[in-house]
Order: sequence, then structure tokens, then C-alpha cells
Amino acid sequence: MKPGHPAPPFAGGCQCGAVRYRLIAAPTGAGICHCRMCQKAGGAPFMAFTGVKAADLVFTRGTPTKYASSDLAERGFCAACGTPLTYQIKGLNRISVTIGSLDDPALFAPGEQFGTEAILPWFAALAALPGQRTDDWLRAAKIDDVGNHQHPDRET
Ligand SMILES: [Zn+2]
Ligand SMILES: [Zn+2]
Repeated sequence: MKPGHPAPPFAGGCQCGAVRYRLIAAPTGAGICHCRMCQKAGGAPFMAFTGVKAADLVFTRGTPTKYASSDLAERGFCAACGTPLTYQIKGLNRISVTIGSLDDPALFAPGEQFGTEAILPWFAALAALPGQRTDDWLRAAKIDDVGNHQHPDRET
């Protein structure tokens, strides 16, 4: 983390709020992974992780359900809403959390990429695609209120 970066703990959790956690130490090694397993596990073009020593991830509400996606690693997710939350290589004293599940994901900029053999051919063009803000999209679609069920990005 750079000077001026907020200090731990950093909180996060799943979309529904059944699982909440805290990183009680500064995470290291933020990265994205394009591997085919991360594409499936995230239901997304790639996943983004940062990690801490196993003891520095503390669950403050609920616990993830685990799926052993290989003999090497287990992935934790919320059984109620499906949000991918953790990745851990068995026997290693380190656990990764999905950057998107942190309450302030902007703090954790990826510094490296993994699984580059599976980078989707359109990945590099994503940042240049035309875009619009959600509020503008809602206004254009004449939707006044989505009735948000997502847990807020803070402790409750
Ligand atoms: Zn959930
Ligand atoms: Zn991966």
C-alpha cells in the first residue's frame, strides 16, 4: 500500500450481507486472474483478488460455503446469494478475497495478471467501449427506483 492509503481493518462481504468479513492486516499482492476456473467461478471475464495471512481474515457475520474447484484450491462463496468471496490454496497460510466484495474496492489496484492463457480476445478493448452511468441508464429506461436489496458498503 502506498503512503496515505487508509489503514486496516478493511471490511467487505457478500451482496446479501449474510457473510461479512474484515481484513485486520493490510492485504498484499492484488491481481486479476483470467484462468478458465476464475471465469467460471466468477461468472465473469476475470476475477480480481487481494490477500492476507489466513488468520488476518476474520468473519464477522456468517461464513462462506466452500467449493474445491481443484485438488489445489478451495473457493468460498455466500450460500444465500452466490457472491464469490475467497480463494485459498490448500496448505498455504494465505487467503485471498475478491476485490469486488470489499466495501471500498477502489483502494486495491491490481498489480499483476494471472491465467493469461485464457485472456478473452476482447479484454484489451473493454476500457475504450462506449459507456454510461447507472443513474443515466435508469433515467433513460424510466425506472424511478430499483428497490435495492444489496447490503450497503459498510458494517451494519
Ligand atoms: Zn450473501
Ligand atoms: Zn484463476
